[in-house]
Amino acid sequence: MSLNLSLQKVLHTNKEHITKLEELGVKTVRDLVLYFPRIYVDKSAYTNIADLKTDEVNNVIGTISNLFHKRTKNGKQLTKCLLSDDTGSVEVIWFNQSYLKRLLKNGQEIILSGKAKFNLGKMTLQSPSFEEQKKEQTHIGRIVPVYHETAGLSSKWLREKIQPVIKDWSKQFKEYMPKEILDEYKLMPYQKAIAEVHFPSDEITLEEAKKRLSFDELFLLQTKALQKKWHWQNIAVHDQKVLPRHEVLSEFFSKLPFELTGAQLRTIEEIFNDLNKPYPMSRLLQGDVGSGKTVVAAAAILNTVKNGYQAALMAPTEILAKQHYHTIFKMLKPFGLNIQFIAGSTPQSIKDDVTLQLKNGTVDVVIGTHAIIQETIGFKKLGLAVIDEQHRFGVKQRDILKSQGSPHLLSLSATPIPRTLAMTIYGDQDLSVIDEMPKGRQQIITRIVPEKKRLDGYKWIDEQVKKGRQAFIICPLIDESDVLEVKSAIQEYEYLQEHIFTKLKVGLLHGKMKPKDKEDVMNLFSQNKINILVSTSVIEVGIDVPNASIMVIEAAERFGLSQLHQFRGRVGRGEYQSYCFLFMKKSGQETSKRLQAMVDFSSGFKLAEIDLQIRGAGEIYGVKQSGIPDLKMASLTDSFTISLARQAAQEIINKDPELTNYPMIKAKLDELGEVFVKD
Ligand code: ADP
Ligand code: MG
Repeated sequence: MSLNLSLQKVLHTNKEHITKLEELGVKTVRDLVLYFPRIYVDKSAYTNIADLKTDEVNNVIGTISNLFHKRTKNGKQLTKCLLSDDTGSVEVIWFNQSYLKRLLKNGQEIILSGKAKFNLGKMTLQSPSFEEQKKEQTHIGRIVPVYHETAGLSSKWLREKIQPVIKDWSKQFKEYMPKEILDEYKLMPYQKAIAEVHFPSDEITLEEAKKRLSFDELFLLQTKALQKKWHWQNIAVHDQKVLPRHEVLSEFFSKLPFELTGAQLRTIEEIFNDLNKPYPMSRLLQGDVGSGKTVVAAAAILNTVKNGYQAALMAPTEILAKQHYHTIFKMLKPFGLNIQFIAGSTPQSIKDDVTLQLKNGTVDVVIGTHAIIQETIGFKKLGLAVIDEQHRFGVKQRDILKSQGSPHLLSLSATPIPRTLAMTIYGDQDLSVIDEMPKGRQQIITRIVPEKKRLDGYKWIDEQVKKGRQAFIICPLIDESDVLEVKSAIQEYEYLQEHIFTKLKVGLLHGKMKPKDKEDVMNLFSQNKINILVSTSVIEVGIDVPNASIMVIEAAERFGLSQLHQFRGRVGRGEYQSYCFLFMKKSGQETSKRLQAMVDFSSGFKLAEIDLQIRGAGEIYGVKQSGIPDLKMASLTDSFTISLARQAAQEIINKDPELTNYPMIKAKLDELGEVFVKD
């Protein structure tokens, strides 16, 4: 019998319940067995009747006697009995539960769970839940699973249905983990883990079951990722061996107006090692905003071109792409490279020209938005593709770039996240981290501003701007709707211009503006023709305006720390002392404590770690966009298990990348295929 069997055929229940289950995503036997409890309540400890305590929940086992049912004067149905064990007896009362007539009998052994009270000088148990004593308990007398409920499907109902299904079907969940992994990582057998996670024998076994199932999820995720990487590096046709051209590189480094940091030098070396290999690189370069990723990418681009190949850099927005173009153009100009820019707004005639020159190899480097992979654009010999803020692109877009002759692939991310988390969500890439800021970077002074200080804040900004500084004001995040977010930004902009900063020039930037308009606004802001820029969260990525020294974030509590950190990175890029003000709409101890971390720490890695602990991985900027499936059991904060699972996955893939000798793992991955397909 197949685990894909529909529940209609297995559960004795009505259509309505089946529909409700489907709403929970539970359609087949497999789904139901893998519908794990949310939490557990320990109802395994029993109290002797002689030791019953009032006003707390007691679990007792006893025998029923003196059972009777009657209707009270005010029309209530009353059920009473005496429950006795070796230590004594207690009175039990239920109201209006007429079905008890059918269920309870004198002499029956049952388990009760409920609050004890003194009633007319006597100890009574009032309306306890009960269960007949069985070989295996379901609802009480054990560690009880609690499931996510939905209207019309109670946790109790789910318990009742799941228990027999597990009994009948868990044998079909065959062990697929190779023995060497089971032994090495001391994992509980799969079948047992599934049974125990629903109906645990005890705390220790439960923990082991959870450990096994978490390990599995992470292991499969990482096996898949490592396999993908292996495919990319071994199946792809690739002959781009890029040797380090030391003379050119020393000249490049010597022309820079600064010394590279140790971290930059180390990551450059890691990248160059990869470029030099006979298979394509798959590497993610992570570094805080301002840590200097561009120059690292530029060095790789230069070296690639000096080996006779082309390079491409793709950024998620036109503004960013333009900025990269200018920076890289300036850095690489002395080396005689032909560098071109393409974005959506580029006139067709220029696009056509560049396309032609990319095809015949006249253009060495193309920088732009996803327009560079659209339409007819193709390369003569693409050796390196750089993708900035990779999580903003879909897998498809990345794949198109990859299909252009299997170039070396370098992704850049300004979202620092802990290494183990990166390993899970970007497992198909090797990781390089710039964990050091250039020397002499100023500290940005960060303050939490309560509502009552708002006007003082505005006054202070007004004075600063009159001295020549510039400010960003980020509008509140509105989850439900971009349209509302844009609307509120427009309102804020009008309000500030008309009522607060009347003598200054206020500008507006939001995601629904045409690229050309956005660029105009950004240009005006760069030239200090706009003093204060009101913006939705679209400006989060890499815009460089050195004269902007004030960052105001409205309703800061709505953003995760790592995103606040992204915003803050927009200032502190010039010579002036910079400030970040976190305005709070809703205050509270939790919120203040969380935002205080922004005041206390300037490292994005540190803030991401705190975010991870407080709000969970989903809140970390970039994680949701990474397309990682919802994990049932594993936690992305569990770096210990993540590391173990990664190690195990690596062992398997090293030995047998196509899983020829591990058909069971392969089948499991296929089974999960749907879940794992990203985007
Ligand atoms: P990001 O990592 O955010 O992309 P950028 O590459 O834009 O950072 O660099 C931020 C600024 O720091 C740029 O103005 C760049 O010229 C400068 N920069 C990069 N590396 C160094 C360094 N080692 N020392 C001083 N300034 C540097
Ligand atoms: Mg950048």
